[in-house]
Amino acid sequence: DLKLSNRVQSIKPSPTLAVTNRAAELRAAGKDIIGLGAGEPDFDTPEHIKDAAKQAMDNGFTKYTAVDGTPDLKKAIIAKFKNDNGLNYEANQILVSCGGKQSFFNLSLALLNPGDEVVIPAPYWVSYPDMVKIAEGVPVIIETDASARFKITPEQLDNAITDKTKLVVLNSPSNPSGMAYTKAEFEALGDVLRKYPNVLIATDDMYEHILWTEEDFNNIVTVNPDLYERTIVLNGVSKAYSMTGWRIGYAAGPQPLIASMKKIQSQSTSSPTSIAQVAAQAALEGNQQCVKDMVTVFKKRHDFMVDALNEIDGIECLNGDGTFYLFPSFKGAQAKLNCETDTDLAEKLLEAGVALVPGSAFGTPGHMRISFATSDSNLEQSIERLKKALG
Ligand code: PLP
Repeated sequence: DLKLSNRVQSIKPSPTLAVTNRAAELRAAGKDIIGLGAGEPDFDTPEHIKDAAKQAMDNGFTKYTAVDGTPDLKKAIIAKFKNDNGLNYEANQILVSCGGKQSFFNLSLALLNPGDEVVIPAPYWVSYPDMVKIAEGVPVIIETDASARFKITPEQLDNAITDKTKLVVLNSPSNPSGMAYTKAEFEALGDVLRKYPNVLIATDDMYEHILWTEEDFNNIVTVNPDLYERTIVLNGVSKAYSMTGWRIGYAAGPQPLIASMKKIQSQSTSSPTSIAQVAAQAALEGNQQCVKDMVTVFKKRHDFMVDALNEIDGIECLNGDGTFYLFPSFKGAQAKLNCETDTDLAEKLLEAGVALVPGSAFGTPGHMRISFATSDSNLEQSIERLKKALG
């Protein structure tokens, strides 16, 4: 009779990984399933990055490193922030972790006391609310919809902040909506945040480079530099360089907060993998053409999928600003197939051979997250299957 912690009982396993596993199960049972659930690019890690890791191994660079990352990788990260974002950091303001997921985990554990509120716009990356709960914080969800392009308004943000609010989380471009805030929208959100000097802000820039808006990439602090002292920037190499398995993410922010996150990490994983850090450094310092090439392919697939999805009765899809996700409404489809919830619909579509993640997993039911990080032929076939299932 195993008595588990309240902590673990308050959370659920990652639903995106669950869909991937369920699809794998059905495949193993001989069913032909196209997976549109994946949260990772389908490309191989670029050759020059792998070469750097091989070289590191051959050089014997296979031991613990400094908990917060090698000085060389931190230098590359500092240069990246300066060159790409115009943000200046000292080495003691940077923490390298085992993926962006650990960066946010460290942040939650270092920052939150029981009952502290964290404002999270929905649809959200599935892990934010659960990581907040692990740290005994309280997620406060702001709901959005397609008419707002899944972005929060300044009024909504203002209404969500209370005297218990410790942190506001922004993720642009967003997983799962694919939407990015404009500079003007960040200015307006900045005006609200300026009224609450005790509230910290986390900007998750994991999809920074996978963006095709006319405006260049921005986040809350590039647009509102006066918020620098209370903004923590989260980023990583997983998505831009197709390095999800290498597990390298990084955070930059106020020195005392970074030091506390480092303390948490020092008692959990210690440093990230030495070899992966060398690879991440090669990614950041190397030729960026590989990123541009991947983004070109993603944009082509995006255009194909938006058009094709909108031709199917029961599906409505907006153009995205970036990432490799679309977040169309399947409300019509749900009604058509007599499904009570989007999870029921996802199960039906899985039986029809397409694996999607229901919007309820991201806090916005009635939608499906479609990852187009898969081959053109898979995308074409998935459209045929959806047409048939909804025909
Ligand atoms: N942030 C967002 C918005 C994500 O979608 C992901 C991955 O899915 C991460 C952070 C974490 O990435 P990783 O831990 O693989 O570096």
